[in-house]
Amino acid sequence: MSELKHQPKNIAILGATGSIGTQTLEVIQENPSLFKAWLLTAHSNAYLLIQQALQFAPAYAVICDESKYMEVKNALAHTSTQVLAGHQAACELVTAAEIDIVLTAMVGFSGLEPTIAAIKAGKDIALANKETLVVAGELITTLARASGSRLLPVDSEHSAIFQCLAGEDPASVEKLILTASGGPFRGRDAEFLSAVTRQQALKHPNWVMGAKITIDSATLMNKGLEVIEARWLFDVQADDIEVVVHPQSIVHSLVQFNDGSVKAQMGLPDMKLPIQYALAWPNRLQNQFKRFSFADFASLTFEQPDTDTFKNLPLAYQALQQGGNMPCIINAANEVAVAAFLKDEIGFLGMSDMISECMVQIGFIGKPSLNDYLNTDKETRIFAQNLITKMPLKA
Ligand code: NDP
Ligand code: MG
Repeated sequence: MSELKHQPKNIAILGATGSIGTQTLEVIQENPSLFKAWLLTAHSNAYLLIQQALQFAPAYAVICDESKYMEVKNALAHTSTQVLAGHQAACELVTAAEIDIVLTAMVGFSGLEPTIAAIKAGKDIALANKETLVVAGELITTLARASGSRLLPVDSEHSAIFQCLAGEDPASVEKLILTASGGPFRGRDAEFLSAVTRQQALKHPNWVMGAKITIDSATLMNKGLEVIEARWLFDVQADDIEVVVHPQSIVHSLVQFNDGSVKAQMGLPDMKLPIQYALAWPNRLQNQFKRFSFADFASLTFEQPDTDTFKNLPLAYQALQQGGNMPCIINAANEVAVAAFLKDEIGFLGMSDMISECMVQIGFIGKPSLNDYLNTDKETRIFAQNLITKMPLKA
C-alpha cells in the first residue's frame, strides 16, 4: 500500500458545535489513525469551538458570527489553528485541496451555500443537513453528478437505506420505507396538540438532538423533510416512498425490491453509527457502541402515521409532488414557524397553518435557479414572519 493510503482522511465539520458535530468529533477521537479534523465551523458558540480546536488541533476554525472573531482568535493565538470568521470563509475553505470529506451538520438553510461550494470542488459530502436537499435537491444532485462528488447519508433512515442498497441494482427497488418514531405526541389528537408546550415538544422519546430537529420530529415535519431527502438521495419518486411509525426506533428504515423481498437495517438509536458509516464508507469499522439485544425489546411495533392530525407530513408530500421551489417554501416557512414556536410566539398547530399559508401565497417557480432559491427563501421568511404578528396563531 502506498504511504498516502495510511494517512487519516481530513474531515471538515460544518456545525462542529452541534449535536451531530460533537458526535462526529467523538468518532474522530475514537479513530485517530483514520480521521483527522481539518476544519471546524460554528455559528456563535465561541467557547465550545475554542475547546474543540484546542483538543483536535484542526488546520482551521471558522466562527460564522463575526462579532466572536477576536475571542476565538485570541484564545487560539498560541496554537497552529488558523481562525477565520464569516459564512463566506466557510464557503471558501470547504474547497481546500487537503479536505477528503465535508460533513454538513449545520442546521437549516445555512447549509446550502457551503454544501454547493464543496460539491463544486468535488468533495465527498457526509450529509446530515437534510434541509439542503429539501431546498435544492435537483440542483445539488445535478452538481454532484457533474463534479463526481458523492453524497453519503448521515441521517439514520437514509444511512439504513444506503446500507440496504449495498450490492443491489437500483433498478430493482420497488419502494423505500422510512420509519418514524412518531415523536412525543404519537397517538394524541388536535385538541391535545393545541395546548402542548415547548418543553413537552422538546422531549423526544428516543433521540437527543438539536432543538430544531426535535420540534420537527414532534410535528412529523422531520419525516416530511426526510421523504424529500430520500427522493433526491436515491432517485425515487414520491409515490415510491412510504412512511411507517415504529416507536422503538430500532428498525431504521427498509427497502422493498421488485421480487417482494424487504431488507431492513436495525440497531440501537445512536447517531455515531451512521456518522461512522458515512466517514468510513465503503468500510465498516469495529467499535464499542452498545449492541442491540432482542432480550431488551419484547416487541417491535409498526403503525400508520396519523396524517389528519400531523399535517406537516402530507404538506411535505404535496410540496414534493408540486416540485419547483415549493419544497424551498415549506422549508423556509417551517424554519420560521419552529423558531416562533420555540419562542412561545405561536402554538403547536400554528406551525402547520403557517406552512400551508406560505405554500398558497408565495410565488411558484417551476424550474428555479440558485438565485431563485435564495430569493424564495428570503421572501418566504419575511411573509412567514409577518404571519406571526398578524394572525391569531397562538393556541
Ligand atoms: P444543532 O442545533 O445541535 O447544531 C447546529 C450546528 O450548526 C451548530 O454547530 C451551530 O453552531 C451551527 N449553526 C446553526 N446555525 C448556523 C448558521 N446560520 N450558520 C452556520 N452555522 C450554523 O443541530 P443538529 O446537530 O441536531 O442538526 C444538524 C443537522 O443535522 C440538521 O440539518 C438536522 O436536521 C440534521 N440531523 C440531525 C440529527 C441529530 O440526531 N441531531 C439526526 C439526523 C439529521 P452554534 O453551536 O455556534 O450555534
Ligand atoms: Mg432521521
